[in-house]
Amino acid sequence: MDSFNPHHTSEGKDKDLDGIIRPRALEDFTGQKEIVSNLEIYIKAAKLRGEALDHTLFHGPPGLGKTTLAHIIASEMGVNMKITSGPVLARPGDLAGLLTSLETGDVLFIDEIHRLPAEVEEYLYSAMEDYVIDIMIDKGPGARSVRISLNPFTLVGATTRSGLLTAPLRERFGINCALEYYDTADLVRIVLRSAGILQIGIDADAAREIALRSRGTPRIANALLKRVRDFAQVMGDGHIDLKITKFALDKLHIDTRGLDAIDNKILRTIIHTFKGGPVGANTIATAIGEDQGTFEEVYEPFLIKEGFIVRTQRGRIATELSYKHLGLEKPEEDGSLF
Ligand code: ADP
Repeated sequence: MDSFNPHHTSEGKDKDLDGIIRPRALEDFTGQKEIVSNLEIYIKAAKLRGEALDHTLFHGPPGLGKTTLAHIIASEMGVNMKITSGPVLARPGDLAGLLTSLETGDVLFIDEIHRLPAEVEEYLYSAMEDYVIDIMIDKGPGARSVRISLNPFTLVGATTRSGLLTAPLRERFGINCALEYYDTADLVRIVLRSAGILQIGIDADAAREIALRSRGTPRIANALLKRVRDFAQVMGDGHIDLKITKFALDKLHIDTRGLDAIDNKILRTIIHTFKGGPVGANTIATAIGEDQGTFEEVYEPFLIKEGFIVRTQRGRIATELSYKHLGLEKPEEDGSLF
């Protein structure tokens, strides 16, 4: 069986299911307590004043709920949301069209906002700050710029790579939220909630097993739930118990610590190819066939958080836990031999 890549799971039919299980209100959103309680206040205050919510930036690894929170903001504010993404907005004209179509208070959600082309980004500054844009009309000597006023709106930006945002753009967000990986208790709640909506019978210990193996990520928890359901339906009566869960997750190559095939490849690469490190992010990324950004923003944060690797000035080092995880003995440090 192919190994399961949980970072690419929101395609096709799964995407329809995503729409059903995506929380629609702040009270349905599990975890990220501080972010949720702050947003609650900001939204209430903006509504009291009859203003658009301040521009909001969400950053953090994929699948933690950035898009979901953008939807929730729009629905709690009672406004419409237009969705786009950094790479799609190739020219300033693309952005101008969107901005001028926004009604008062609407949300414009830009996913992967770090990938906005520079000239489009510059265009955003005056839109965010003063709700105006300057459009160039004609070319050559007759060229002139015309100022267009926009309705007050809320820009919600999402990024996995906040380090790549320029300072002028970052500073224009009044609300800045860093999403964290979820703990097991929250993920259990998310799995049980999704199972309830999808009418899947699941035992508590099975839900916990899925939560434990979800890399701290709701998107992965939901994806695993759906795959385990497949096994339960084909091999059993559809009810998810611990035995079928363990069987399915092993088949999907999700190990007991929730690491997937690529995570394990990263650990093996550092240990076998680079003698445990230190080794640079770029070198690891090349060795596993991923780009450096994906390694640093998608894979590495979880491996660091769980204590599998440490980041030093000279590069990444595999910890004793990594060796243990792969069933290996950590060699003595060179220096300690003398
Ligand atoms: P991101 O935009 O950060 O990549 P999404 O908002 O698309 O992540 O979330 C991925 C999926 O995980 C969504 O379909 C949603 O159903 C689920 N999800 C995310 N956060 C939560 C949460 N806090 N509670 C319940 N489900 C969540």
